[in-house]
Amino acid sequence: TYTLGAKISNWDEERTLWLNRNQDFPNIVNGKARILLVTGSPPGPCDNAIGDHYLLKSIKNKIDYCRIHGIEIVYNMAHLDKELSGYWAKLPLIRRLMLSHPEVEWIWWMDSDALFTDMVFELPLSKYKDHNLIIHGYPDLLFDQKSWIALNTGSFLFRNCQWSLDLLDDWAPMGPKGPVREEAGKILTANLKGRPAFEADDQSALIYLLITKTEWMSKVFVENSYFLHGYWAGLVDRYEEMMEKYHPGLGDERWPFVTHFVGCKPCGSYGDYPVQRCLSSMERAFNFADNQVLKLYGFRHRGLLSPKIKRIRNETVTPLQYVDQFDIRHSGQATA
Ligand code: UDP
Ligand code: MN
Repeated sequence: TYTLGAKISNWDEERTLWLNRNQDFPNIVNGKARILLVTGSPPGPCDNAIGDHYLLKSIKNKIDYCRIHGIEIVYNMAHLDKELSGYWAKLPLIRRLMLSHPEVEWIWWMDSDALFTDMVFELPLSKYKDHNLIIHGYPDLLFDQKSWIALNTGSFLFRNCQWSLDLLDDWAPMGPKGPVREEAGKILTANLKGRPAFEADDQSALIYLLITKTEWMSKVFVENSYFLHGYWAGLVDRYEEMMEKYHPGLGDERWPFVTHFVGCKPCGSYGDYPVQRCLSSMERAFNFADNQVLKLYGFRHRGLLSPKIKRIRNETVTPLQYVDQFDIRHSGQATA
């Protein structure tokens, strides 16, 4: 069967030796595990020109979040393995990044159609010290219902370790484009509740792997105490209500950490929802997040659908008082 590359079996030892030899590249910096956020989009332009504009907004949003929280970013537009094209492209990419960045402790994949909507919230990493894969989902949907939406592969983290390489190896074989992916799709549809008939996708394949080989689960943290992935349809119409009642830093239904436009395909030509609804909802999510960034500079959007901004404070000759008050990095809330 298909493999992601030469089998590596001693990564934990090799990586530990490397870290000892390269003390200028520590995996823990100022007490915080080093995180690399990785996202990307297809090698060519979007089918629809407006899609490229939303890809730009999406990467701006991620740059903002990562700058505020000291996270590094990789944006990939290449297909490292031509067999694993499309949504499967994240697998060889994550593996490559683990092996090429031994200093990184966590690789965080995030889809291009997912936006940070809580600029203050931080991952509760200490909770995950005994786990290697952190993914949003619901254990009952996974094990009782065997639902194809029990987990979401639009935003998840892998620890850089041997276990993760092994899991990727076990996850990849349904991915190769063509008859393999087509045939695997039939198995997934036959076994997962609610799954339409189509070629194997990475999300269904991961769910199927975890329910058929439950021994993997001991190192998988199925997170649902906050929205590591949040399904957009239930969130985007509530942003005004959230702004009225709550504040960033909560990460859950009160102020979602991530809003993911599942089924929208802004860069493709066919999605499950009307294009206009998707685009205006993405615009709202972007501006909702951008307001949290602009606050430090004394501005906010005129409305959640408007690219135009307005001043929220007057210019002052004592700018530093606002740094202490509004810079998320100084607010202490950043350790929510
Ligand atoms: N992706 C990529 N290269 C591709 C196709 C997809 O990097 O050639 C990434 C992109 O970030 C996208 C994610 O893979 O958001 C998931 O792909 P999918 O086709 O499911 O797109 P989505 O439903 O997220 O728009
Ligand atoms: Mn997506």
